[in-house]
Amino acid sequence: MKMAPRVRFAPSPTGALHVGGARTALFNWLFARHHGGTFILRIEDTDRSRSTEESIEEIKAALRWLGLDWDEYYRETERFPLYQEAAERLLAQGKAYEREGAWWFRVPRPGTTVVHDLLLGDVAYDHGLIKDFVIRRSDGSFTYNFACAVDDADLGITHVIRANEHLNNTPRQILVYQALELEMPEFAHLPMVLSKERTKLSKRHGATSVFEYRDRGILPEALINFLVRLGWSCGDREIFSKEEMVALFDLKDVNVSAAVFDEEKLLWLNQHYLKAGDPERLGELLREFLMRQGIVSEEEAEAIPKAKLAKAIELFRERSETLVELAEKARFILSDRLEYDPKGVERFLTPEKGPLLEGLLEELAGLDESEFTAPRLEEATRAYLARAGHQLKEIAQTCRVALTGKTEGPGLFETMEVLEKAEVLTRLRRGLELIRQGQGA
Ligand code: GLU
Repeated sequence: MKMAPRVRFAPSPTGALHVGGARTALFNWLFARHHGGTFILRIEDTDRSRSTEESIEEIKAALRWLGLDWDEYYRETERFPLYQEAAERLLAQGKAYEREGAWWFRVPRPGTTVVHDLLLGDVAYDHGLIKDFVIRRSDGSFTYNFACAVDDADLGITHVIRANEHLNNTPRQILVYQALELEMPEFAHLPMVLSKERTKLSKRHGATSVFEYRDRGILPEALINFLVRLGWSCGDREIFSKEEMVALFDLKDVNVSAAVFDEEKLLWLNQHYLKAGDPERLGELLREFLMRQGIVSEEEAEAIPKAKLAKAIELFRERSETLVELAEKARFILSDRLEYDPKGVERFLTPEKGPLLEGLLEELAGLDESEFTAPRLEEATRAYLARAGHQLKEIAQTCRVALTGKTEGPGLFETMEVLEKAEVLTRLRRGLELIRQGQGA
């Protein structure tokens, strides 16, 4: 590439950032980063009736969450004089005219405009099929095709990389460049994204916004990896870190045929990144997740030690596809508000287990905090049971229900280790209380 490219992601802030938009943003970002260029975020908010501040904030937050940082930022509503000047010029030159208060672009006829698309090749449009179009509405606002072309030229955009649905807008934008004698960028229209049934991707196929996936426990690195494969490939490889994507990405490897959105693959990638990621970093994502989903209060979430979150990740990631599952399994570690499984309580917190549990509680209370490691806990527990003439299996499930509220989970002594001494004793005491209450009933 001769000069460093300048590309833009230009969302209309009329709602959430959905996965199709995120794919467009990602491809632009990768193209810029790969070639040492500039990635611009341009908010196309000229349609004031549909644009909202809330949507702008959400789009920015979703891009940040995905790690797609931008180098320059613009809002079209702040660039009004630019469009006004360009539109007046067209009017003065007779290339546009006024009718019923709106300003119309005069499409030269006869004629043909050819879009030279980097991915699709040449696509010709006969001007007989392109009607004159509004550039400035009667309320003084500017239309997408006009503002977009003026902006792309003014910002020195070298490559317009966007969704396929905009291909048919491109000849109109080219006509605007030509009429204003502006330098034209290259165009690349990305393949469509279809559902597994090969229909246009929509809400009906499940979540479509980036934040819905986040709230379903998808990791940003998994979503990014999933999105890059919607239209781009590198041999038959599936797993790419962000750094690898930046190093490998090129437009020439973008496919022309439609990409299929396969949620199972997203879950598979998510599990991969859950298993492979650094536990501390994933722990922080888990903390945010717990807070956002209201699983624990904000104060509680902030108070959870880093090491505990990392431990929760290590203990449960093998058995979880998403952070939702992981949080559910790890909940007993992260919050002291236990949810007891009633069947587990009925079956294992029974009166005859009381004395044995009480004895174990005393034994563990005698251990030093530093002895709360799985091997030492197992040794102490087995020694106590041997003295009392009992076996581990007689008390294991009782202990587990007392400590976790559930009948299934990771190893008993690992569980004790992560809970640490004070919490283990508190929960065993609570278990004893439940036994007593059961007796009274
Ligand atoms: N605002 C348009 C959209 O959100 C952007 C189209 C373009 O990239 O030119 O679809």
